[in-house]
Amino acid sequence: MIQTNRWENALRQAITKPEELLTILKLDNNLLEAAKTSAALFPLKVPHSFVARMKPGDRHDPLLLQVLPIEAESFSHPDYVTDPLHEAAFNPVSGLFHKYHGRVLVTFVGTCAINCRYCFRRYFPYSENNPGTLGWDKALHYIAKDSSIQEVILSGGDPLIANDRTLTLFSEKLNQISHIKRLRIHSRIPIVLPERITPDFLKWTMQLQQKPVLVVHCNHPQEINQSVRDAMQSLRNAGVVLLNQTVLLKGVNDSANTLIELSETLFDAGIQPYYLHLLDKVDGAAHFDLNVQTAKTLYAEIEQHLSGYLVPKLVYEKAGAPSKVSVSSLIIK
Ligand SMILES: *Cc1c(COP(=O)(O)O)cnc(C)c1O
Ligand code: SF4
Repeated sequence: MIQTNRWENALRQAITKPEELLTILKLDNNLLEAAKTSAALFPLKVPHSFVARMKPGDRHDPLLLQVLPIEAESFSHPDYVTDPLHEAAFNPVSGLFHKYHGRVLVTFVGTCAINCRYCFRRYFPYSENNPGTLGWDKALHYIAKDSSIQEVILSGGDPLIANDRTLTLFSEKLNQISHIKRLRIHSRIPIVLPERITPDFLKWTMQLQQKPVLVVHCNHPQEINQSVRDAMQSLRNAGVVLLNQTVLLKGVNDSANTLIELSETLFDAGIQPYYLHLLDKVDGAAHFDLNVQTAKTLYAEIEQHLSGYLVPKLVYEKAGAPSKVSVSSLIIK
């Protein structure tokens, strides 16, 4: 008999119907039509346990705003495109991106546990970049040939959609490449669905030959509940380095108080703030964007209130740059 984990069931039961989300949160039905229209462009998807962290009746809830399809998504804007990072240019092998020195990003799976409305994944052809177990060999061959690569980053989609058996199959192959020192996972799942951090997953992290680094993705302190704290504690006990990246989003976390509380809450949960990203200019997400001047002003304010190590780096991705670029280097016209 195939055993299914609690997290796999939770994933299967994720809310995908706008009417169900509105009913659970006791929200006005006048949001329904736009939600259905925009969900047809990029589906609604959100697990029940994440919805349980939202405030019923509040249509401006910061967690709700990240997942509810709204009318503004269908407004196009000349600066917002379907491939804002020009990823296609750094894609030597299906499922592998080599943009920066010393590290490659592998798009491990094409889906996520949640569909964030601001995500650039809404248009990226991940179905073509979801090599699966067969395609790994090509990616691993590329990695094996280049000894300047020390770190492999599993990204997606969300790599923790893969089950523990799949992760083990991959890491067994990766273990044969001795120049890989670190295995980094970029995932929103430990926040959205903390029950994913199973005993088997913890065992997997402990037997890796590479140092495990987990970069979670949390945008608001309200996302961190006791289940998330417990999962983080068990990861720390297993020796996993925990970092966080946040996307700066209008209406969600664009206040100094929220960002300060976020850094403090993350650190209390054992997570080190790493990056605060400006939004990628993806078509349909313009309503989440903050202009650079506003972002810089906010950032200056959090710098004045937080210990240095609690201040994430404010960065954006620039096509062709050798790393993520610090916003402080941006000259405002
Ligand atoms: C963001 C990113 C990385 C990791 O960059 P760090 O600055 O090391 O966190 C690696 N590869 C790609 C393609 C990326 O987009
Ligand atoms: S890749 Fe990350 S930001 Fe995008 S939908 Fe998935 S979890 Fe959300």
